[in-house]
Amino acid sequence: MTTIGTPLSPRATKVMLLGSGELGREVLIALQRLGVETIAVDRYDNAPGHQVAHHARTIAMSDADQLRALIEAERPDLVVPEIEAIATPVLEALEAEGVATVIPTARATRLTMDREGIRRLAAETLGVPTSPYRFCDSLDELRAAIDDQIGYPCVVKPVMSSSGKGQSKINGPDEVAPAWEYAMAGGRVSQTRVIVEGFVDFDYEITLLTVRARGADGNVETRFCEPIGHRQVGGDYVESWQPHPMPAAALERARQIAGAVTGDLGGQGVFGVELFVKGDQVWFSEVSPRPHDTGMVTMATQWQNEFELHARAILGLPVDTTLRSPGASAVIYGGVDAEGVVFDGVDAALRVPHTDIRLFGKPESFVTRRMGVALAYDADVEVARRNAVEAAGRVKPRAV
Ligand code: AMP
Repeated sequence: MTTIGTPLSPRATKVMLLGSGELGREVLIALQRLGVETIAVDRYDNAPGHQVAHHARTIAMSDADQLRALIEAERPDLVVPEIEAIATPVLEALEAEGVATVIPTARATRLTMDREGIRRLAAETLGVPTSPYRFCDSLDELRAAIDDQIGYPCVVKPVMSSSGKGQSKINGPDEVAPAWEYAMAGGRVSQTRVIVEGFVDFDYEITLLTVRARGADGNVETRFCEPIGHRQVGGDYVESWQPHPMPAAALERARQIAGAVTGDLGGQGVFGVELFVKGDQVWFSEVSPRPHDTGMVTMATQWQNEFELHARAILGLPVDTTLRSPGASAVIYGGVDAEGVVFDGVDAALRVPHTDIRLFGKPESFVTRRMGVALAYDADVEVARRNAVEAAGRVKPRAV
């Protein structure tokens, strides 16, 4: 049985979000609606989630001592990581000591914080199809891996990176050294390890949002949302839509793979499983043990969006993954490097039929920083895509 207390009272149900960007902010709003007391944590002040939570805390979440001190002081019922750059060994220690329940589990958070743990689990332990890959610690090792095993074209990514940072495609021997240099400059932390993957010539890629939530009998069940298609530029998503049409056999295979990976990671909550599809063939790429950025489209398409699904699942509440309408999302970029920007054209954007927008309230804009998202629904997913892109383009951030 799930019991929820009164916020700001001694019996409050307290949830701490580690990472309070646009995704964390929506999870916080969903938790607020269920009467949960929320603690938003980020590395800078006035982060999007800070602005909607009961409590806002600013620490370096990659610093083990700061993270432990904060969790021990606040004693939340649940700790919900929303980013990868966290001192995950502390979460494992606190979970083992019985101090914190980590969503979905501390082990899942550790395995997915870099590309190596999750890739080895999926490919070597679970036998799930992935691109061919090798891990390398020097330019010489990279050359050898490509020559002996991987071949051209291939993709090099820092092990500690996300969203395409430091990632490049290598088409021939001349491009190996520049790709290595680029990877060394683009990793999240200073380190020399990269993964080199064979290039998968897929027809399309999808995010399969997979939810592990308690059923009426108390056992955890696995539910799937409709597949989300997306378009990436430089490893960052610029547009997503749902549903993405798929042959029945490929969808079945995608669900099997997502079920196997999330089943091993365990716990409760939403997972964003990224898959490549060609005909009926499906390859596992990555998984986020939390809502996924491409899944922002569900704010326009599902009765319960991915953030509401996450909030419900982690609290032990029932979930409904039913699609309400096909729809799309398109990212609104900063376009300028400035603090305290203003957004012109919000009215014009919302005149596009069946659209909505979210502005994240980030204190500082960068040219390629995601500052908001436009959402659209329509019976025809292609119409929704066009409308989302049109609405996003009408919002013009401006330095003052
Ligand atoms: P990632 O940061 O690993 O999610 O990669 C970002 C994007 O790069 C993916 O969404 C794909 O569009 C593309 N990509 C990554 N790995 C491969 C691969 N092995 N073959 C083809 N495309 C890839």
